[in-house]
Amino acid sequence: MRRERKAKIVATLGPACSDHATIKALFEAGADVFRFNFSHGSHADHQERYKIVRTIEQELGRPIAILADLQGPKLRIGQFADGKVMLREGAEFQLDQAPTPGSAARVCLPHPELFAVVSAGQCLLLDDGRIRLEVLASDAGAIRTRVVNGGVLSDRKGVNVPDAVLPIPALTNKDKADLEFALGLGVDWIALSFVQLPEDVVQAKELVQGRAGVLSKLEKPAALDRLEEIVGVSDAVMVARGDLGVELPPERVPGVQKRIVRLCRKHGKPVVVATQMLESMVTAPVPTRAEASDVANAVYEGADAVMLSAESASGAYPVQAVSIMNRIISEVERDPLYPAMIEAQHQAPLPNKGDAISAAMRDAARIMGAKAMVAYTTSGHSSLRTARERPMAPIVSITPKPETARRLALAWGVHSTVSRDVNSVDEMVAAACRTALTEGFVQAGDQIAIAAGTPFGQPGSTNLLRLAEIWPQ
Ligand code: PGA
Ligand code: MN
Repeated sequence: MRRERKAKIVATLGPACSDHATIKALFEAGADVFRFNFSHGSHADHQERYKIVRTIEQELGRPIAILADLQGPKLRIGQFADGKVMLREGAEFQLDQAPTPGSAARVCLPHPELFAVVSAGQCLLLDDGRIRLEVLASDAGAIRTRVVNGGVLSDRKGVNVPDAVLPIPALTNKDKADLEFALGLGVDWIALSFVQLPEDVVQAKELVQGRAGVLSKLEKPAALDRLEEIVGVSDAVMVARGDLGVELPPERVPGVQKRIVRLCRKHGKPVVVATQMLESMVTAPVPTRAEASDVANAVYEGADAVMLSAESASGAYPVQAVSIMNRIISEVERDPLYPAMIEAQHQAPLPNKGDAISAAMRDAARIMGAKAMVAYTTSGHSSLRTARERPMAPIVSITPKPETARRLALAWGVHSTVSRDVNSVDEMVAAACRTALTEGFVQAGDQIAIAAGTPFGQPGSTNLLRLAEIWPQ
């Protein structure tokens, strides 16, 4: 089974799709990666879904990536005496550390570390940005604010502090427990929420110890100040437009998205564009034209993947949402304008053997009209560098490691397969031709290009480009 497209689809699993039949239907409709959202659901729920995805993988013989998305340090206010209050524009409102129930004058903010870093003139956003407070003064015990945008505020609503770098680690105790649980299951990717600093990613990588790839969710303005370093230390990145669009004015999100996607393409790190892509499909069987355009634009930019959140996790039309995404991506990639748009953001290869081979393979494949490019990889690195070239011929990746094959399900243009190591150039050519043929990419008489490294099976050894023709079987 092969996909007829290069950009990938990430689908979040949730109550709307937790049974074997629906998850299988999502995969068949086009989902390449399943996201488990640890902000919702119990460990038992995630474990059950994990088993189902791996069973489907066995049944269909295709590697599937699972992304465990950790909740991160989501700040929340405490509770009110009456469950909710009305905040009026111009009124004063205080956030403090008294655990007593709140009123229209004050509420508890049970995050002591916040009080020292907030200062007069900054703003606090509550309830996904619906309520806006301007800080008048702040000390160790209380933050005094004026209501700029008022409204109803109820118990435990989220708090965003866009203007400050918060002295809080990207991993809470809940995240650490969820992380160990997810790695114990065998997930392929760990997503870190509210990354602010490169050190946040480094700390997570120390805990993960190579057991999964680490994907940084960019949803804090502070992260944008150190964007290139964060991309550099991450294994993949997500443009998390939900929280990003609360912390930044909405008109800034499109430009930031383009900047992040370009930087990720430059570094060869898979990048996912996420949130509200087909939001209206939570309740409707068709998307709006603007949503279709949003998905298409991410694909024209060259993003590795587009993502569904509530549309698949809790919406009324999860399978339809995946199939619409699949259709939009395929249509963009058939557009005669598409290759030139992808090429316009092409970045020069780095001066090393692996990149020289990837770039040469792309050129050779284009010149010969090759139907596929086969990349041998151990860690996945060579396949990612090949994807970084954004070649128009499909990339068939061969690795002996199932965990590498699964992780690569997120990468642009990569059709991931598992097969044992080869020991000679003849074996390498034979196995590459056989895989391209059986996976449905070529027929007799077609040309392929193959990249590998000698000595075979040694990570980081890419040094060989071979062109071959498929013989009649
Ligand atoms: P979330 O992250 O859905 O876990 O909040 C994505 C986003 O903020 O866009
Ligand atoms: Mn978020």
